Amino acid sequence: MLGLMQNQQLLISSLIEFAERHHGEGEIVSRRVEGDIHRYTYKEVAVRSRQVANALDALKLKFSDRVATLAWNGYRHLELYFGVSGTGRVLHTLNPRLHPDQISWIVNHAEDSVLCFDMSFLPIVKAVHGRCPTVKHYVAMCDADKLPADSGIPGLVSYEAWIGAQDSQYQWPSFDENSASSMCYTSGTTGNPKAALYSHRSTMLHAFAGALPDAMAMSARECILPVVPMFHVNAWGIPYGAAMTGAKLVFPGPAMDGKSIFELIESEKVSFAAGVPTVWQMMLAHMQGAGVRFSTLKRTVIGGSACPPAMITAFNDLYGVEVLHAWGMTEMSPLGTVCTLKNKHLDMAPKDKMQVRLKQGRGVFGVDMKIVDGSGEELPWDGKTYGDLLVKGPWIISDYFKGEGGSPLVDGWFPTGDVATIDADGYMQITDRSKDVIKSGGEWISSIDVENIAMAHPAVAMAACIGMKHPKWDERPIIAVVKKPGSEVTRNELIAFYEGKTAKWQIPDDVVFVEGIPLGGTGKMQKTKLREMLKDYKLPDA
Ligand code: ADP
Repeated sequence: MLGLMQNQQLLISSLIEFAERHHGEGEIVSRRVEGDIHRYTYKEVAVRSRQVANALDALKLKFSDRVATLAWNGYRHLELYFGVSGTGRVLHTLNPRLHPDQISWIVNHAEDSVLCFDMSFLPIVKAVHGRCPTVKHYVAMCDADKLPADSGIPGLVSYEAWIGAQDSQYQWPSFDENSASSMCYTSGTTGNPKAALYSHRSTMLHAFAGALPDAMAMSARECILPVVPMFHVNAWGIPYGAAMTGAKLVFPGPAMDGKSIFELIESEKVSFAAGVPTVWQMMLAHMQGAGVRFSTLKRTVIGGSACPPAMITAFNDLYGVEVLHAWGMTEMSPLGTVCTLKNKHLDMAPKDKMQVRLKQGRGVFGVDMKIVDGSGEELPWDGKTYGDLLVKGPWIISDYFKGEGGSPLVDGWFPTGDVATIDADGYMQITDRSKDVIKSGGEWISSIDVENIAMAHPAVAMAACIGMKHPKWDERPIIAVVKKPGSEVTRNELIAFYEGKTAKWQIPDDVVFVEGIPLGGTGKMQKTKLREMLKDYKLPDA
């Protein structure tokens, strides 16, 4: 016997329809590429998303055709999130921090038909458009009078002229909720980039889960600033969750430096922000230098790479901001775990609470996980035993777009490439990425643990630990360190700083001071590049 409930497909268009009717006055504030601040409401997002839909229909794009963006976090990008997916086309958010050769490779692989771009990225579009035969339409996301006359890009139109000519009435189509809605390529540290292809159903379920109190707690009382880019796994699903709940959204546009983000948080009364650790590093440095404090920020979700304990402490102790450590992947839409406390932790001493907060967190309902040994046997949840982390759930990929070589799944589980422990309360802690873990004398050393200690030293701005070949131990850790401007620390002082904080054999053999650590397109440390940079390095006793 079937239930007698209405069978409505879970479609992204329903988010913006709901937002318009139920919290139409909710605000969206964006810093524009032009430098000024733009404000409007969900009602206007809905109207302009329908104009986008009509504009796409006018181009005669087919169902599932790809519409690419090269854009910052901003209101026009938000309209494309709803307008493109709502019509059944696929929004493909390109990462503008990649090299033009990578961008053109990805555009060709995705077979994008339209490319919408912020004017900051005109030089990239100039460099790639001749190499992207599938792209038939270029849209500059600017006012009509800002369109350059001599762009050299055939048929270039301004976004405002493109949608301005369209009717604001549109009937969103209904179709199978399993249809593709958006796509995002992983950075592909090994081999070519691969794309996760999200569906309407996966995106909607992810939005429901992401808005839960033990996840990102999105609500109509929050003002959310996603520092995480809209080209980095759909800004972790925040645009969808915000439309679902009516949260005020604040977009930083191109001004991603610590000072600009801080000023926007203050002027718009942001209560919740989300981003990768390197971005917060810049903001904390700005705040400490300028002697300023937050007046409204209450929570921040930090993920994408391990959040150093020193950062959690700085937010909490200096500024009274709660840090929620989170873990996920492009292949997971991206939410996997968020570190929120349970009842039993509330009365703990701050130092014990900190031990919990450092972990990457508990599974959000919808994501199941397990750790396994080399032969695939499941390992205990004791908080000590570590193994390969596998996940499954309705917003985790079953295959890559145009996947070659068969499904990545193992017995229905997706291998994350991370090594982790899980404790009896279900808190998962990443030991390392399996390719970054350092194998020393048959034991494993977590590069994250080694980095976390260095990051707690007052003179250290950034630290990356990698393994170096060693004739006796196989590999030994060294730490590459960027010093804070005006601060001093010597190699021996930093090595001595490790004494008593970790087992002797886990202390790095050497410190290499560097000007900078290579960062990838999403602000993560690129250890492959660092290894290349240090290819002539020799361990002191090797
Ligand atoms: P890529 O960095 O390859 O583009 P993702 O952005 O999908 O891809 O990164 C996913 C990976 O980032 C995870 O598998 C994990 O190694 C790392 N990661 C994400 N969040 C955290 C975290 N909170 N702590 C440690 N590592 C993390």
